[in-house]
Formats: sequence, structure tokens, C-alpha cells
Amino acid sequence: MSIAKETGELLSKLGVSGSALSGGDLVVRSPVTGEEIARVGQVSGADVGKAIDAAHAAFLKWRLVPAPRRGELVRLLGEELRAHKEELGRLVSIEVGKIPSEGLGEVQEMIDICDFAVGLSRQLYGLTIATERSGHRMMETWHPLGVVGVISAFNFPVAVWSWNAALALVCGDSVVWKPSEKTPLTALACEAIFARAVKRFGDDAPEGLLKVLIGGADAGEALVDHAKVPLVSATGSTRMGRAVGPRLAGRFARAILELGGNNAGIVCPSADLDMALRAIAFGAMGTAGQRCTTLRRLFVHESVYDQIVPRLKKAYESVSVGNPLEGKALVGPLIDKSAFDNMQKALEAAKAAGGSVTGGARVETDHAGAYYVRPAIVEMPSQTGPVLEETFAPILYVMKYADFDDALAQHNAVGAGLSSSIFTRDLQEAERFLSAEGSDCGIANVNIGTSGAEIGGAFGGEKETGGGRESGSDAWKAYMRRATNTINYSKALPLAQGVSFDI
Ligand code: NAD
Repeated sequence: MSIAKETGELLSKLGVSGSALSGGDLVVRSPVTGEEIARVGQVSGADVGKAIDAAHAAFLKWRLVPAPRRGELVRLLGEELRAHKEELGRLVSIEVGKIPSEGLGEVQEMIDICDFAVGLSRQLYGLTIATERSGHRMMETWHPLGVVGVISAFNFPVAVWSWNAALALVCGDSVVWKPSEKTPLTALACEAIFARAVKRFGDDAPEGLLKVLIGGADAGEALVDHAKVPLVSATGSTRMGRAVGPRLAGRFARAILELGGNNAGIVCPSADLDMALRAIAFGAMGTAGQRCTTLRRLFVHESVYDQIVPRLKKAYESVSVGNPLEGKALVGPLIDKSAFDNMQKALEAAKAAGGSVTGGARVETDHAGAYYVRPAIVEMPSQTGPVLEETFAPILYVMKYADFDDALAQHNAVGAGLSSSIFTRDLQEAERFLSAEGSDCGIANVNIGTSGAEIGGAFGGEKETGGGRESGSDAWKAYMRRATNTINYSKALPLAQGVSFDI
């Protein structure tokens, strides 16, 4: 069966009508073969305004539904995702080129965040705070915020939406989602799956709780600029964040920015090298290097360099690259030609800066429009040129170090600050890496790789990664507004700070 036909069948099973898949002006291609699999319609500027108005009207009703009842909708969403995990996971593989376990793993993440959010719906706690005035009580209350705008990247086409939507919905917000223009089909599938949950939920789910805007950067900009959207959670490149951040700040809207990473690992003399090898291989080559948490820089102590780097090169040479739908390859395709061109440019720049490159060549297939590459490992004399930037492709830059403090300084000497790892059995090194003078990233790990975060923790990074946090821990607070309430149950009016104002 052709990929286009299979796509149509999967979408039909998920509840997306065939008419949505043809006649539009956005051409959707599968990176697996490069072939066209659909043509979908895109929104106009006026559509964006209408969708936001509808979502705002839904918010005004939804905010009054008790939070545990809102959790019930997310519970049903989780059930629908469980029931359609195979189809949605397969669609992720078709639209993004992920291997089956990664496509399914992405849907599992959606299910996990739904479970998390259901529990959260009974735990949107505020504090009761000791007050300095007698006969008074002070507390804080968390209220729904409004329409939450979600802008997502191609590489996690469905999980990022669910991280935001599951929390926003239990927090009493409605959601307007602008997915990547490279992955509109999985977004339409999520919209249909959500509609099933809403149908089962009943009448107190207002029409317009979720609106999906298919389109490019201009649709994203319209969402960012709309006065009725108090929060935009934007996931994508640092370049996108530089455009979106100031626009949101300009109208005092909140931003959750989840931007690029340039993640590093340090392999110390005492590291368990077998364990480190597996973590590095998955972190650097998994998802063809197209994860925000992909391992891109590796600092290896000179005493173990010759023990681990040759083994790593062997792993690179032997890893299977190929069609992810056939189920055997560990590394699928790059998303498109421009990703391939960027990878080749980075490798040329690395060579010019003295790097020695293993791998990186295109893997020829029968499909001229598909871009498969051998993952590249580049031994660099120092951290210069392309090493300082994120190239969204499977390139791992490896550098030797002699002094731990120097490795730590190099580790932190890039713009991005998303994920990081240290491989060591030395307690002092591990603790220093996690300390205030250690890794400056939002995620810092010991003896596990940089990629593959669990939903229970807050996810996000510092510096040019944007500073946003989503998913677990107390990330929900960004989706609500906090009111501090003071109640005077005395017969006097004591003023704060001992002020006296007798009239
Ligand atoms: P991208 O920046 O090209 O696009 C991301 C999204 O932003 C798309 O929906 C796009 O249409 C939209 N967009 C682009 N310009 C915009 C603008 N000016 N205004 C409003 N919206 C705009 O990113 P991509 O190529 O889809 O994804 C890869 C990038 O995303 C990498 O840099 C990766 O590290 C990053 N990423 C980060 C995280 C994270 O959680 N930190 C997660 C996934 C991906």
C-alpha cells in the first residue's frame, strides 16, 4: 500500500474526513519517501481571529466548571489516546519519519501527561499564609487564565501539544494550537481524538475548547499578537523565539519559550563506559538527531578517550539507517532537504575548523526526495565554529579534556541551556555538576543521557532555550493566574506595615 493511501486510512480511522486531505494549498510530504501524502487547507488572518474568539467564549464557560470535572475530560482524552495509540504512533512515523518505538513513545508521553493532569485537577493548591494582622486570614487562589496559544515544532508533533493542552484544560483554559506546517496531519488527528473525548464528556464541554490553526509562521504571528491570548507556549528554534518573545512582551502577555538546545555530556575517568556508550549513541543518533535534547557535544577525559571514542565510531558505522516504517532501522530520515543541506554545511565548517569527520554522507535510496544520512561523529580540536550552534541533524562533536573545571566551563560556554549529562562514579564530580557552579541547563543528569525526559519533571531550559517550563512539577502555575486574598473577620481595620491613617 502506498504511504499516501495508508495515511488516508489511518486518518479516517482516527476520525479525520478524507475531504480535509485534498484540495488545500499546503503540500504535506512524508520524509520516509519524500512523496506527497496530502494537501490541506491553511487558515487566513480572519480565521485566526474567529478561532480565538470561539476559544475565548469557551474559556468563559469552562473556567466555571469545577477543576476535578475538567480533569474528567482529560481522563477521557487519555482513554482515547490509549485506544488509538497504534494509529497515531504510526502517523507520527509517517509524517516525521520516527522509528516505530519513537512514534509510539511519543503517544505514550501524551497518555502519561493526561494521567498526570487528571491527578493535578484535584491538586491546584494555593497556600494559606500567616498574616501580620490579627483577625485576618491571607491565602492565594489560582484561577483559570484564558486562551492558551500553543505553537509547536515538527519534531514532537503531538506530545508538545498534549503537554500544554492537558495542563491548560484542567487549569480551566481553552487552547488554540498552531502546529508546525510540516506536520498538519498529526494535528488534525489529535483534533479528532479530542473531539471524541468531548463527545463522551457531555454538554458541559463548551464548543471551541480546542481550535487548530493549520498554517505557517504568519498564522503563528497572528496568534502571538492577539489581545485575547494571555499566554503563548511556543516550541521551536531560537530564531523563532527571538521573533515571538519580544512581541509577547510588547503586549505584556506571558510566554513559555521552549527553544533550541546544544546539549552536552562529560565522560569522566571513572565513568562506566559501557553505560555511557549506550546513552551517548541513543542521545546523539536517536530520532536522527532531531530532538531538542539530542546530544550534540561530548567532552571526554583524555584518560578514557581512546577507550570510548573508537567504540563510539564503530557504533556509528554499524547503526542501521533506513525506512522507519519497515521496522528494522534505528535511524530514520531527516525531515527535508534543507535539514540535509544544513547538516552538510555544518560538517564543512567543522572540517575547516580542524575537525575530523566520520560519517555524515547521504544514504542513497530509491526515493530522490527522501534524505537519509549516516550519523556523523566529528573529533574537534576545540569548541569552535559550528560546535557553538545547534544544527538539527545527527552530528556529535567530540572533544578531549584534561581538567574537570575546564570541561565544565566549556560545557556552559554556548548560547543554549537545555539538557546535559555527566558520566561518572565520582561523587564529587557528580554533585559539582548538579550544583550552583555546575551545569547551567534546565535539565542536568547523572549517568543517563541528555534525551528522553519524563513528564513528571518540569521540562525546559535556560539562556537561549528560552526559560520556559512545561509538563510536570509545578509547571501548571504558568497556565493560571494567582490572586492573593486577605479576609478581615475582626471588627477593626489594622493597616499593614503599622501605618496609622485616622480619619
Ligand atoms: P521552527 O522554529 O522552524 O518552527 C516552530 C514553530 O514556530 C512552527 O509551528 C512555525 O510555524 C512557528 N513559527 C516560526 N516562525 C514564527 C514566528 N515568527 N511567529 C510565530 N510562529 C512562528 O522549528 P522546527 O524546525 O519546527 O523545530 C526544530 C526546532 O525546535 C529546534 O531548534 C529544536 O531544538 C526546537 N525544539 C525545542 C523543544 C523544546 O522543548 N525546547 C522541543 C522541540 C523542538
